[in-house]
Amino acid sequence: MLSSSITPFIFKNNFYHVKRDDLLKPFEGNKARKFYYFLKRDFPEIKRVISFGSNQSNAMYSLSKLCKIKGWEFIYYTNHIPLFLKRSPHGNYLGALKNGMKIIEIDLKGDDLRNFILSLKDKNTLIIEEGGRIKKSEEGIKILADEINEYCLKNNLKVFLPSGTGTTAYFLAKHLDVEVITTPCVGDSEYLKKQFDMLGRGKIPTILSPKKKYHFGKLYKNLYDLWRELKIAGIEFDLLYDPIGWETLLYYGLRNVLYIHQGGLQGNISMLKRYQRKYN
Ligand SMILES: *Cc1c(COP(=O)(O)O)cnc(C)c1O
Repeated sequence: MLSSSITPFIFKNNFYHVKRDDLLKPFEGNKARKFYYFLKRDFPEIKRVISFGSNQSNAMYSLSKLCKIKGWEFIYYTNHIPLFLKRSPHGNYLGALKNGMKIIEIDLKGDDLRNFILSLKDKNTLIIEEGGRIKKSEEGIKILADEINEYCLKNNLKVFLPSGTGTTAYFLAKHLDVEVITTPCVGDSEYLKKQFDMLGRGKIPTILSPKKKYHFGKLYKNLYDLWRELKIAGIEFDLLYDPIGWETLLYYGLRNVLYIHQGGLQGNISMLKRYQRKYN
């Protein structure tokens, strides 16, 4: 059910290895790894999944696919859906609606929203935390580690990937025999360290701060330009995390790297629309 290839990638005259988790089926990227636990097992009691987060989240789209495959109802809470998105749905939002998602706007944020969602738990309902930040992710991410461990040892490679909640990087570091390096794209290095603490003790990834401070989800011309250069070099990456990841990699001059492509291409549709509107 899981397993993707590793491809060579030459960028700015340097040679990289890229793990193509963006090509995984039936759903792609690190969310496929995170939700593998649920895909693989039968849950006779479960009738629905409830989750929450932003209206264009990659996790939301992947969960909609999981629920479609499983025949589960999918209810998703978000605190705002802009009018233009309601009028012309696109990207992850459209994809998830097509898969049957019921989306509900709610006037709660942060811990209040999270506590409200957690209170909806019953024996027929699976609650999935924002972005798939769940310990159950470990099973699928360990499979990813098993797929690349030997390859990295043989080729003397470090593993690099950009982080949101840090769940993927954390469990990779736990199960790999080589160094895992990451950079925070949501919040700063301190935030990411806290995320690692919440997931457990033991070996944690090396954290490199991005070259500049970025606000997650905001548009930055330099990040778009880098994304385009990467695409022209032969691989389409995601627009939220990967440009920050690649900028960090280049900034610190990291060599002998296996870069994990964590998917997210469905989300590029909405990011590209926003970039077009802003910069034409
Ligand atoms: C969800 C996601 C991430 C962040 O993963 P974490 O495990 O939360 O760090 C990175 N890249 C892409 C494309 C994603 O969809």
